[in-house]
Amino acid sequence: MSDCIFCRIVAGEIPAKKIHEDEDILAFHDIHPVAPVHFLVIPKLHIPSMAELRPEHAAVMGRVMTESARIAGELGCLDGFRTIINTGRVGRQEVYHLHVHILGGPEVLPAML
Ligand code: 5GP
Repeated sequence: MSDCIFCRIVAGEIPAKKIHEDEDILAFHDIHPVAPVHFLVIPKLHIPSMAELRPEHAAVMGRVMTESARIAGELGCLDGFRTIINTGRVGRQEVYHLHVHILGGPEVLPAML
């Protein structure tokens, strides 16, 4: 059994509110949403973080990004959304399985920077 929580979600060992799944990627709602819409999109392949991305990951990461935008639209984020990828200690990454956060909702999100 993997000790990666997102690999365990991919394997169906831990429940998640899945939005989209195909051979390569999985999208699911964040368990602790910080915006009215807050979902995560991951490659099923265990890539620990953005720092470990290699050229051979380009195709699946392209799909992660295009599906993120498509799902955001499907969930009603028609006037924009925020995309976050936390990487490593400095980036405050908590789960070491590369994931894209998509945040949105009817109101303008608080400024971050
Ligand atoms: P990060 O690693 O970018 O800091 O964030 C990890 C995100 O994963 C957090 O927003 C957290 O709420 C979410 N998360 C952690 N464990 C689970 C889980 O078991 N299920 C779901 N759906 N989300 C999780």
